[in-house]
Amino acid sequence: MAKKKFKAESQRLLDLMIHSIYTHQEIFLREILSNASDAIDKLAYTALTDDKVGVNRSDFKITITRAKDAGILTVSDNGIGMTKEEMEENLGTICKSGSLGFKEQMEQSDDIDIIGQFGVGFYAAFMVAKQVTVISKKYGEDTAWKWVSDGTDGYTIEEAQRDYAGTDVIMELKADTEDETYSRFLEEYEIRQLVKKYSDYIRYPIRMEVSKSRKKEDSPEDKPEYESYMEEDTLNSMIPLWHRAKKDVTEEEYTQFYREKFFDYTKPLRTVHTSAEGTVSYKALLYIPEKAPFNFYSKDFKRGLQLYSSGVMIMESCEDLLPEYFGFVRGVVDSQDLSLNISREMLQHNRQLTVIAKNIEKKIKAELKNMLESDEEAYGKFFAQFGRQLKYGAVMEYGAHKDAVQDLLLFYSHKEGKPITLKAYADAMEETQEKIYFICGESTDRLAKMPQVKLLADKGYDVLMFTDEVDEFVAQTLMSYKDKPFCNAATEDLGLQSEEDKKELEEKAEQMKGLLTFVQETLGEDVQEVRLSASLGDAPVMVTPGTGMSFEMEKYMRRANPDIPFPSQRILELNPNHPAVQAMEKAMVGDTQKAKDYAKLLHGQALLMADLPLADPVAYADLVCKLMK
Ligand code: ADP
Repeated sequence: MAKKKFKAESQRLLDLMIHSIYTHQEIFLREILSNASDAIDKLAYTALTDDKVGVNRSDFKITITRAKDAGILTVSDNGIGMTKEEMEENLGTICKSGSLGFKEQMEQSDDIDIIGQFGVGFYAAFMVAKQVTVISKKYGEDTAWKWVSDGTDGYTIEEAQRDYAGTDVIMELKADTEDETYSRFLEEYEIRQLVKKYSDYIRYPIRMEVSKSRKKEDSPEDKPEYESYMEEDTLNSMIPLWHRAKKDVTEEEYTQFYREKFFDYTKPLRTVHTSAEGTVSYKALLYIPEKAPFNFYSKDFKRGLQLYSSGVMIMESCEDLLPEYFGFVRGVVDSQDLSLNISREMLQHNRQLTVIAKNIEKKIKAELKNMLESDEEAYGKFFAQFGRQLKYGAVMEYGAHKDAVQDLLLFYSHKEGKPITLKAYADAMEETQEKIYFICGESTDRLAKMPQVKLLADKGYDVLMFTDEVDEFVAQTLMSYKDKPFCNAATEDLGLQSEEDKKELEEKAEQMKGLLTFVQETLGEDVQEVRLSASLGDAPVMVTPGTGMSFEMEKYMRRANPDIPFPSQRILELNPNHPAVQAMEKAMVGDTQKAKDYAKLLHGQALLMADLPLADPVAYADLVCKLMK
């Protein structure tokens, strides 16, 4: 039979795995058992809605068989099984789920030890076996299939016999060497240990023939003789992790469970293990991940917690248990108050579920607050990954959830040079300061150079720098924090001028009316208004959108839909004290053409500073050259 080749990526990883590590080989058993358990989960889940499955919950089991003389270890399950196509797809490719994270990490690091840190899946079998045979029959199919590979370059697949649905993974162990005794994986003691260590909480019995001893029937009571015999025994306690008391679970166990269950190779930032008794009883094990999955901010990401009813999974990811803004949380919830056969539609209106969801939301919020207060660095990490989700939470549904999330948000502070909370901003406000200033743009470096920021900094006022598209929407939705209104420093009145200053500016505008009209006429449709401003510091000009949509918002909208025909209002503001503006005024008297050129130049500059496109960059460049001649 012709051998089919592994995909190239698989081949590379396989080589790495087989040849480079010894210390963590034992994890192969955990991987195989975990697959068996998942496969049973799937069939058990099918059985909830399909009477034809014909297997009782109590019939589900995983069996370990040892053929010591032949050096063969077999793990069998009566789970969902695989079709021929599924075998080829699942066992012939390595760039999947858990393995993917492994591959990424592998490419960045020479540290081989990481293999033991997370699941590498089925392929781990090749760390200990020279040949692996998988015989599987998919539930509902008539034919079973046999897949065989030595893990080096490919596999064969052919029809086979199997009575009922399920899978056997048959591992022909490698010969012992000086460095490694593979045969130990056939010893009862070793297997018991490994199951206890890694797979104790698997909820189906892991059965194995073990040796026991008993009194020989015919031996006398006063002089008993013993004989040993073999009997099948269950090796695992089957108590799910979340059912165990917190004090009895080690951090390592929590982490391992997380990695296996949620296919993440990183360590979770926080783990919350909680339970409630009373009108509604439940246990929950929640994790705040360190890293956002690659598809987190896309439609493909499925948020939700795994839902169990007394230890039996009834839903893979239950959305209703998590508010959208905490969608990054992974975990399981188990409640005895939910019926096994509850339908999705029913769940949505289930009162118990609503209560549980409320409690869970509170727990997550408390945990995040705790992290924020006790471990700034960890929170910073968390926020860099999931902050945007929380910000969406603040603006969603017209701000209905803003109270829940506003204190969890961080924004970059100009003064502190790092992200801070709104509370920290408010607490540090100068007594004279009336508003929470923010400014929007692409980078904090650039924003720091804006005249308004300098002006405010001179007064000792901090400015929050919004570099995320959603930030400005957050400010618009919150409107104020602790009664202090948000103020867009680039577009709104900074409120720094006294009545006298204002009057002075008005008088000046009156005096310079000729210039303002001239500039307005020169620029025509490009600006709606030309006026003087006192918030320019040492810059000559700027454009602002007036009361219209801010430029950042405009850019955002335009990216979302390039055809939108609405440019914001553009107002050109002049600094009456700036020599360039004064030079323009002077030119107006003797050399109108020059004054016109100046007006266009200044307008171009203002657009560039605001990071807005020039309508005609070539004309602008020509003007600059003309000036140099
Ligand atoms: P992972 O478990 O991380 O998805 P694996 O490499 O361990 O990756 O397994 C790949 C896939 O092969 C599984 O997702 C599952 O679909 C299938 N599989 C593995 N073992 C079994 C089994 N015992 N029964 C049914 N399907 C299995």
